Amino acid sequence: MLEDSHYYFNKAADVLGLSDRLREILWAPIRTIKVDLVIDDDDGKLQHYQGYRVQHNKARGPMKGGLRYHPAMDEDHAAALANLMTWKTAIVDVPFGGAKGGINCDPLTMSEGELNKVTRRFVEQTKEVIGPTIDIPAPDVNTNAKVMGWIMDEYSKYAGFSPGVVTGKPLELFGSEGRDEATGRGIMVVLDEALKSRGKSWQDIRVAVQGFGNVGSNAARLIAEQGAKITAVADHLGGVSNENGLDVDALSLWAAEHHTVKGFSGGTAFDNMEIITWDVDVLIPAALENAITEDNVNDVKADIIVEGANGPTTPAAHEVLVKRGVLVVPDILANAGGVTVSYFEWAQNIQQFRWQKDRVDEELTHKMREAYAAVRDVAEQEDIDMRIAAFVLGIRRVGQAATSRAYVSEEINF
Ligand code: NAD
Repeated sequence: MLEDSHYYFNKAADVLGLSDRLREILWAPIRTIKVDLVIDDDDGKLQHYQGYRVQHNKARGPMKGGLRYHPAMDEDHAAALANLMTWKTAIVDVPFGGAKGGINCDPLTMSEGELNKVTRRFVEQTKEVIGPTIDIPAPDVNTNAKVMGWIMDEYSKYAGFSPGVVTGKPLELFGSEGRDEATGRGIMVVLDEALKSRGKSWQDIRVAVQGFGNVGSNAARLIAEQGAKITAVADHLGGVSNENGLDVDALSLWAAEHHTVKGFSGGTAFDNMEIITWDVDVLIPAALENAITEDNVNDVKADIIVEGANGPTTPAAHEVLVKRGVLVVPDILANAGGVTVSYFEWAQNIQQFRWQKDRVDEELTHKMREAYAAVRDVAEQEDIDMRIAAFVLGIRRVGQAATSRAYVSEEINF
């Protein structure tokens, strides 16, 4: 995965004419942490889990990024995702750098008590290098507001009351209104911009969504509310389709109860791998990386793709989509709504002040439209696709901050 990010980084660095020296400085993470997390499981047996945190860049502010609990989590994933966070926070112009981490574990087989213990152990092992002005975790795959609440509680034992150490917390523990749905809302807003640029309206489009977790389910709901039809949804166990449009609220209730969309009676079941090539106008990969690859890209039918997940498209597939003229709104722009409202949450925590949901939604919408326009302008000026344009914008802003802080002893003339 890190290799994929490096490919896009280098393409953007070529557009910027960055020297090898600057590429090296901007690419390398500033700190990589691996911790051994030992807990007693529910049967009293000792279990070891590996925890990771990669802190990539802090030129523009404290580092920021999610925590992923997944059996595939490793240093490579953390490094690649941390790198994406650095450019993402710069693209939406929030005052953060980039980080990412997680625990190599399978939460689907663990009890809540075990997850609680392993989360607290992670905080205990990383408490010196995280904090409201250092590095601020947030939810990602298989972590949620409850886990963020545990992190706040554990960290506060060492540092005193510190709601700003983590975002995506429960509302009653100083979370922000609108954070839960923020990534999905951001996706809806950038899709609105993409539709305008293609002369389409909400009523014209059929949409397929891969992944029905935090990102996929909220994106599907908000897009359906605009009048589009969500005709197919898939998760790790199966897919469900309905050409007349799925009832997303009913599907959400089903998924909340059964932890999958599989078995939902308001549509027809299909194999989850088929979602990427479903006959739709818009595809939203909102699960994991490497969903659109060389193997399936030629069968993709959507002509707009909005990347809810991080890294869902491999470089080879990216090149095919660019050649075919598919409009891809890249991950580092499309899913930046989450970190944007995380910034609002952090700002509220620091000021000990609460915003109403209307204000959160309005400011998020404004930030996402502004970021979309900035990326589109770079794409037009440089005659490049939206993904490389997003990298160019992010790298340029981080590079300028690094130069202004004078720790890069070389002028960046861009
Ligand atoms: P989540 O754990 O809430 O949901 C993940 C979903 O993906 C689940 O529905 C799961 O069943 C599905 N899935 C897993 N493997 C699959 C497969 N092989 N085929 C189809 N579906 C599969 O996670 P999330 O928070 O919604 O994150 C999803 C993606 O969005 C990740 O790439 C994450 O990094 C990215 N992201 C999340 C946020 C956020 O605020 N949560 C912000 C930015 C980006």
